[in-house]
Amino acid sequence: MNEAKLIWMDGEFIPWNDAKVHVLTHTLHYGNGVFEGTRAYQTEDGLAIFRLQDHTKRLLNSAKIVKIDVPFSQEELEEVQLELLRKNDFKQNVYIRPLIFLGYGKMGLYHIGAPVHVAIAAWEWGAYLGEEGLENGIRVKVSSITRNPVKSTFGKAKAVANYLNSQMAKYEAIEAGYEEALMLDDEGFIAEGSGECFFIVRDGVLITPPNDNSLESITQATVLELARERDIPVERRRITRDEVYIADEAFFTGTAAEVTPIREVDGRIIGNGKRGEITKELQEAYFDVVYGRDKSYKHYLTYI
Ligand code: PMP
Repeated sequence: MNEAKLIWMDGEFIPWNDAKVHVLTHTLHYGNGVFEGTRAYQTEDGLAIFRLQDHTKRLLNSAKIVKIDVPFSQEELEEVQLELLRKNDFKQNVYIRPLIFLGYGKMGLYHIGAPVHVAIAAWEWGAYLGEEGLENGIRVKVSSITRNPVKSTFGKAKAVANYLNSQMAKYEAIEAGYEEALMLDDEGFIAEGSGECFFIVRDGVLITPPNDNSLESITQATVLELARERDIPVERRRITRDEVYIADEAFFTGTAAEVTPIREVDGRIIGNGKRGEITKELQEAYFDVVYGRDKSYKHYLTYI
């Protein structure tokens, strides 16, 4: 991976290689921790974090859900992320990974009283599903693994433990020769990708499921805003697997994945097998926003 100079941990900036934990770190054993994934883009006015406040708010909400008391305020954590990017002097686009975890000093499942640690790392990271995928679309497999049901997990939290589910789905898809997994919910409707929300286009209508069985995605919300602004009709409703097969277009959205077209699902070619027209329009609009070219969305950028 692309190492950077400094990582922020519990109030201090420390060298990248010194950001270590004990093997009896509580989160390593029992999986209670929360994190974020945020991007910063090199705009013509310098590096800017996209929707910093929304990501930081979601981080704190995730911690609240899993009963972890965070010893830093939203304002403090936002300032730290800006300072981290300034100090690391990045030349390319950056991915920011705040992590809140329970540390060494207490074992057993009753986690209250375990020390809480907050770390924020950042490094240069390009397209998550590949540059080629952004342009030509990726091949996707509906997963045999059901997305964590809301009856037993907390889908509104970006919780460490939720990602065993995602990892197994991703592994299965890659091993089968696909690039990403599409997970169904426990009733068989489309939930989300292993780390992305999902959209289709049918007869000019943009459709994405409600967030009952997906993370409340910041990229999804941005794309919906862009679509409404362009008078593209939008529906938030459940989608079945066979409806995906006959969609005109499909794409994933996520901070890491950005807007990635899908050209094939389970061996069925989607539309003409290329990035669809509406997908392209929304992808370009999204990049105009994150790179600061669309001035009407400047409020989503925090320049370092
Ligand atoms: N679903 C899951 C499971 C994710 O991990 C992510 C990535 N954070 C998303 C959806 C997309 O969320 P966002 O657009 O806020 O990055």
